[in-house]
Amino acid sequence: MDRKELIKTTFLEKYGYVPKKYAVGPGRVDLLGIHTDYNDGFVLPIAVDMDVIICGDKRNDNIINIYSCNMDSKVSFDIENNNYDENEKWSNYSRGVIKYLKEYGAEFGGADLVLESNLPIGSGLSSSAALESATGMILQALYGFECSGEDMAQIGKKSENLMVGVATGIMDQFASCNCKKDHALFLDCRTLEYKQLPLDCSMYKVVVCDTKKRRGLVDSEYDMRRAQCFEVVDILKEIYPQKKITHLRDITQEMLEENKDKLSFVQYKRAKHVISENDRGLASVEALNRGDFKAFGELMNQSHDSARDFYEVSCPELEAMVEAARQAPGALSGRLAGAGFGGCCVALVAADKIEEFKASAKSYYDAKTGLDSEYWVCSASDGAREI
Ligand code: ADP
Ligand code: MG
Repeated sequence: MDRKELIKTTFLEKYGYVPKKYAVGPGRVDLLGIHTDYNDGFVLPIAVDMDVIICGDKRNDNIINIYSCNMDSKVSFDIENNNYDENEKWSNYSRGVIKYLKEYGAEFGGADLVLESNLPIGSGLSSSAALESATGMILQALYGFECSGEDMAQIGKKSENLMVGVATGIMDQFASCNCKKDHALFLDCRTLEYKQLPLDCSMYKVVVCDTKKRRGLVDSEYDMRRAQCFEVVDILKEIYPQKKITHLRDITQEMLEENKDKLSFVQYKRAKHVISENDRGLASVEALNRGDFKAFGELMNQSHDSARDFYEVSCPELEAMVEAARQAPGALSGRLAGAGFGGCCVALVAADKIEEFKASAKSYYDAKTGLDSEYWVCSASDGAREI
């Protein structure tokens, strides 16, 4: 049964009538910009063609009912009494969106909703942002209030930060709300200005390669990297008081090299990665605008190598997967996705070589690690939308 049919049938079972509107919120994967977001730098995600699909209708009261097919769980709450749910934790992503949409001033009442997702949970495709953007979009479709994709992204982020309690940046929600089919989204994390860059997925697919190694020790390592970045900022802003340096974004590679002797080797390496990663982000804009996949693939590879050597956020499994991807037929690139220390790699692969790529990468990786890797072949898709 197709997924739209499935949620329609489920809706009919749960609520006894047929839903009126349908929407989707996609997952996302980053193609460039490792640990650049909190340094006010650039990121380059796409929305993938795997998503949360949701359907629903308005109610005459203020009650929200949401059923998740994946969790086989239903929650009911009054919009005026919408708090953190200890028991059905999954619902907090949607509860937060509803809470902060209200705070934003959106006018809506109750709704009956059913959702289903084909995104793997916790694998680096951001099923949580997809759930948030799908929730926002279906309410917008049902009630017709104004809310731009930029604002909806902020509301999703707020939900995740304040209702769920996870300190994420803006990229996931921004991509899930604002991406465009056959484009990558170049986002300036300082100003939230963005550009849509052509990425024709009839020629090259984005393959997400799950190492099946779950992230460990991320929080403490993450905090340490972040602190090291701001140590460099503090040192360089003393040297260049006229330049108003607040983030690594404000430092060039030349400035860094000139002051190398004032930094520890670790501080130098961290800054080197972030600053060069921002330069690769800018170079990607040019490469994709001229349709140069090879040059873009090379930038992705450099991004990984820099994250491994200078930011030191790789791990043996990610290294094995990057090797596996790069040696496989049709691959232009392989790099870690997300924050590192496990999770997924992302590869750019010629569309006519996908099956050979998967077979080759899997046999290489699984033999080397003993793990059972998994692959998702994605195209750059539109952000959250009514369907
Ligand atoms: P990811 O990297 O996939 O975003 P997160 O831990 O941030 O991982 O978010 C996953 C959580 O989002 C799940 O544990 C669940 O609470 C919620 N979630 C995602 N998809 C669904 C779904 N289809 N139904 C209910 N909850 C979901
Ligand atoms: Mg998430």
